[in-house]
Amino acid sequence: MVRWAALAVACMMAGPAAAEPVPPRDGLNAVLWMQTSAEYKAATIGAFAAARVALAAALADPDWTAAPEQGAGFRDLPPAVILDVDDTVLDTGPYQAWLVATGAEYGAESFSDWVEERGAEAVPGAVEYLAFLRERGIVAVFVSNRAARLEEATRDALAAIGATFPKDADTVMLKRERKEWTVLKGSRRAEAAKRYRILQVMGDNLGDFVDEIGGTVPERAQAVLKRADFWGSKWVMLPNPVYGSWEAALAAPDARSEDERRAEKLRALSPWK
Ligand SMILES: [Mg+2]
Repeated sequence: MVRWAALAVACMMAGPAAAEPVPPRDGLNAVLWMQTSAEYKAATIGAFAAARVALAAALADPDWTAAPEQGAGFRDLPPAVILDVDDTVLDTGPYQAWLVATGAEYGAESFSDWVEERGAEAVPGAVEYLAFLRERGIVAVFVSNRAARLEEATRDALAAIGATFPKDADTVMLKRERKEWTVLKGSRRAEAAKRYRILQVMGDNLGDFVDEIGGTVPERAQAVLKRADFWGSKWVMLPNPVYGSWEAALAAPDARSEDERRAEKLRALSPWK
């Protein structure tokens, strides 16, 4: 009892440090969930496992294609999957954590610095999925909105988690590598679909699957429901509560202050009363 009292006094004496104001950082919970929760790991491992099961069925069915961009005569094309990179196969957690810890805003320059270090680890489940692709001779086409100048660093990081690249084709398609390759990924999916039968698409953002990403919250939901039968087999979505086009749909453009963005997000809630 006396010992507990002494501990309580010690805690009170340590009080002032603990009572220092903590800055509001809106990404804190989401980044912590991705970096520390067992639940995130279970979700991504489960998504990749389900994706492998669906791939086996896709390989056996020559009429199966996961790309609406796929033209006629795809049955005899070699099989491939289209994968996003960031927070689909490579974990950007350390960069996101740095933003929250320092209060810095996302910036192309700081993100490039992090990418150039080539230290990204795999999203849980991705290594096993990439191994499955290698064993079955399925090509992985990476479609990412990383800047074209980051291709070498991106290839190095992907190779480190088990990705392979065919010698006869560019299977790392980054933003603006060609003029028409904008932030919308449809033209790159179409390019991949000319060369391969697309068995599956995996991503963490609506734009990894469709180009209708800039609409309102109900419009974006409609884009998902339009292909309701694709999800979980042809299209596999990984969770990402940290960033994505979902946030832009809340009418909170980056140019505004953090306070204004927070106010807009509070208005986007649907409380029970
Ligand atoms: Mg991503």
